[in-house]
Amino acid sequence: MLTGEEQLLYKMKKIKNYINGKLTPPYNNSYIKNYEPRSGKIYSLIPDSNTKDVNMAVKAAKTAFKTWSKTSKEFRSDLLIAIANEIEKNKIKFIKAESRDNGKPEWLTKKVDIPRSATNLKFFASAILHYDSKSHEMNESVINYTLKQPIGVAGCISPWNLPLYLFTWKIAPALAAGNTVVAKPSELTPMTAYMFSKLCIKVGLPKGVLNIIHGYGNIVGEEITKHPDIQVVSFTGGTETGKKIAKNTSQSFKKTSLELGGKNPNIIFEDADLKLALNYTIKASFLNQGQICLCGSRIFLQQKIYTKFKNLFLKKTAELKVGDPQKKENFLGAVISKSHMNKIITNINTAKKEGGKILLGGTKKILKGKLKEGYYVNPTIIENLDYNSSINQEEIFGPVVTLIPFKTEKEVIKYANSTKYGLSASIFTQDIDKAHRVARNIDSGIVWINSWMIRDLRIPFGGMKQSGLGREGGFKSLDFFTETKNVCVKLNERL
Ligand code: NDP
Repeated sequence: MLTGEEQLLYKMKKIKNYINGKLTPPYNNSYIKNYEPRSGKIYSLIPDSNTKDVNMAVKAAKTAFKTWSKTSKEFRSDLLIAIANEIEKNKIKFIKAESRDNGKPEWLTKKVDIPRSATNLKFFASAILHYDSKSHEMNESVINYTLKQPIGVAGCISPWNLPLYLFTWKIAPALAAGNTVVAKPSELTPMTAYMFSKLCIKVGLPKGVLNIIHGYGNIVGEEITKHPDIQVVSFTGGTETGKKIAKNTSQSFKKTSLELGGKNPNIIFEDADLKLALNYTIKASFLNQGQICLCGSRIFLQQKIYTKFKNLFLKKTAELKVGDPQKKENFLGAVISKSHMNKIITNINTAKKEGGKILLGGTKKILKGKLKEGYYVNPTIIENLDYNSSINQEEIFGPVVTLIPFKTEKEVIKYANSTKYGLSASIFTQDIDKAHRVARNIDSGIVWINSWMIRDLRIPFGGMKQSGLGREGGFKSLDFFTETKNVCVKLNERL
């Protein structure tokens, strides 16, 4: 006899893997509960896949590579565009699904996640048509030319914070370059990748070209990074996971790209346009509930404007609404999971123990009615913590920022560079020389001057230090997903 919960689970929507062109239940028929962050309730089931599922996917991808790698760029480009068009046609469903699965506001999935997912596909569909290679002539007697060839089966592992956005950011260049793919979305946000697999079937993507395996990172993800028939791995996620992946992929010298965590400085000098700095700082602090690797969680304020900016920032943050992600007025929705919500609160408590003063927030937000079990955290601003306190060194990945005063340019560069991370930074100043000087001296892969998170898909994207390895974006992504081969031709010198 099934219990009430078991009966409910039995009836629940079951997500399927996408293997060899077919939607496939997990080999062991075992499932993971998928929670809706908005309400804290289970709303679907995710395959709890294992080695057998990964092996089937890799086998299909390996077979498909033989023909996919020989197709024309135009053929692959057309298919990627066809999938992008389908996302756009079904955008309402995708917008709602991404918000429901992740907890982020619908206005955000409408503005950012879903349009950008379609753009990723279109961008790499176009980039591959313009991707060229060099030739080098030696003294009129030798020509070296370079081939850019697909590598084989690519493993693409993406996180939960920007689910379809980062999923497509990886698979699009891999497929455009002629590789086949075994992809694993985060088990916390599988829904839009599942919907994506249905679109692939609809547009006629040849079987085995893309395979999507759902399940736990330490089972499915780990298997992908160790599998002998996967030659290249692209990963976005946390730094600690990145370390494990690097260890696994190094055993068989897989080409590896790691986009990892950040603890990014947001530096506001006394000569900054404070209105502009304030607008960007609000977004850099709390967009997506602070769950973006590029969020500026350490706000450095030059002493002269410390109190003025603090007051403006407190006032504007206090006006931000936290609540149901389906309602337009809420700037913040739910965070990803109950355990993540508790981790954020534990970090806030650590900040208090370290002497931090909570200026705003610092607590969970409990909604009423059906949403009372949802995972909501109030935007939190903390001051009075040393630049090298643990809260100012470790990524929290939630709506929590600290304010840190500084006196000089030299001092703020030292503070900004004090963490193990080096992903991004923002600098606000009207002194153009100072802006360039500081940008040059900050250890990070990206520096925004008088802005935040403006993304041009052609630019090299990635982190320094423990924020990553390698760069993605534009032709860099295509370079990553291809093998460079030099062909040297000796010419007959006789006339
Ligand atoms: P995780 O590192 O926990 O997970 C990322 C992905 O890796 C998930 O699909 C996860 O699966 C999988 N995974 C987990 N363990 C392993 C393993 N041992 N081997 C292989 N794969 C594994 O990160 P989060 O999902 O929590 O994402 C948040 C992190 O991602 C933050 O640190 C953030 O800064 C970073 N990030 C970096 C970005 C960048 O571009 N630099 C962009 C966005 C986020 P599962 O979830 O199923 O366990």
